[in-house]
Amino acid sequence: MENKKVLIIGGGVAGLSVSLALARYRIETVVVEKSDFLGGHGIQFSCKAADQCVKCGACVVEEKLKLALAHPGIHMMTGCRVDRIQRNRRFHYRVHRSPHYMDPQKCTDCGTCREICPADGAIRRGYSAHHSPFFAIRETACLYMKDRSCAKCRDACPEGAITLEAEPETETGEVDAVVVATGFKAFDPADKPYGYGMFPDVVTNLELERMLRREGRVIRPSTGEAPHTMAFVQCVGSRDGKLNHLWCSKVCCASALRMAMRIKRQQPDTDISVFYIDIQTFGRDFESFYKESREELHFIRAIPGDIVRNEHQNLQMTFFNNEEHRSMDAEFDLVVLSIGIQPCDDFSKFSRTLALPLSENGFALPAEEGPGIFTAGAVQGPMGIAESVAGAGDTAWAVYSYLRGTHATSGSEAPE
Ligand SMILES: Cc1cc2nc3c(=O)[nH]c(=O)nc-3n(C[C@H](O)[C@H](O)[C@H](O)COP(=O)(O)OP(=O)(O)OC[C@H]3O[C@@H](n4cnc5c(N)ncnc54)[C@H](O)[C@@H]3O)c2cc1C
Repeated sequence: MENKKVLIIGGGVAGLSVSLALARYRIETVVVEKSDFLGGHGIQFSCKAADQCVKCGACVVEEKLKLALAHPGIHMMTGCRVDRIQRNRRFHYRVHRSPHYMDPQKCTDCGTCREICPADGAIRRGYSAHHSPFFAIRETACLYMKDRSCAKCRDACPEGAITLEAEPETETGEVDAVVVATGFKAFDPADKPYGYGMFPDVVTNLELERMLRREGRVIRPSTGEAPHTMAFVQCVGSRDGKLNHLWCSKVCCASALRMAMRIKRQQPDTDISVFYIDIQTFGRDFESFYKESREELHFIRAIPGDIVRNEHQNLQMTFFNNEEHRSMDAEFDLVVLSIGIQPCDDFSKFSRTLALPLSENGFALPAEEGPGIFTAGAVQGPMGIAESVAGAGDTAWAVYSYLRGTHATSGSEAPE
């Protein structure tokens, strides 16, 4: 279908999958991603295979990113936000583009900028080898942005790829349909009594994913050494009446068990406990994987009360053991909080602008999308990568049918 163009807001696995599916119908897309790196949450995940594939989906995100970047009909815009959409006959949009300090054409990903930078966290590293440029400057931490006192990265870059004086830009365009694929926000556990933000060895499952991806193994952030004892705490920010987050995040049980089993295979001396309400076994093969993991991990049906650091610098957890009907204490080197999925802040903004209805939990209601406006992925509610990709295919088909029905001669185009 030529001369049709679709705006996709959000460059996670759902947005990328919609763009690739629309490309198969020869529909051009513009993918607007607010962060510096495409791939959303999924591109930060590590492969959980130890001896065989456990279908975690991490490689799917990598593959979608690679294919979408190579497709001439998919135009990517990173570090960008859609700040206006108006509908006339088509949709007219305006994109605000943050300054791009690194030139992707010149950057060779050598890492000199990051090595020489004196400000902690000022130069962020991409997660995938497909991220180009591989580095991005965080304005809030950069000393040049603060008071012009440092330009070491620019001076040291052997390719002259860094321009610290870059300015923001705006770009406008017209499209025939809009897909909102802004994903989800991970729960912030700072207010939970688990010492997150206070004790370096209390991390989230998202941070563990990044650690496994970066280091290739698990370590205690406080010492850099391998932990001997680890605990996963499930349902942090999900199924929580006090927070009014009553929904199950659907992916955390599978994600925690796959990570735990990968660690167990790779670092077999690690003793791993899983604190849970009940284990959700979504997905075709997960039931048997769960059975297998029961042989190797300790499953404790309890929600921990709190976590403190004891005199040995270990994390001490208090919990009520429902099976033994008594309060207990346990000590761990590392605690992983399985934080839940919640609606993305940006979605409520788009839902107002585009008149998209929200479910009572704040996710998108897929059935009632407006004419020419569609949603895809976890913006519709908690879902895994496979479901996000499958749903993106359905969304692309709905977009194609809409464009064919309203703007093209019926039956004049067919998917390849
Ligand atoms: C800790 C954790 C572990 C998980 N592990 C697994 C696993 O092992 N296997 C699995 O299948 N699933 C897993 N999931 C679920 C998986 O993350 C989701 O299925 C997947 O990320 C959904 O993709 P998405 O594109 O819908 O959303 P996201 O990945 O959230 O991507 C949305 C994108 O939209 C961008 N965006 C947001 N707002 C805007 C805006 N206003 N303008 C432009 N861009 C915007 C975001 O920056 C982001 O890049 C896990 C989830 C969590 C929290």
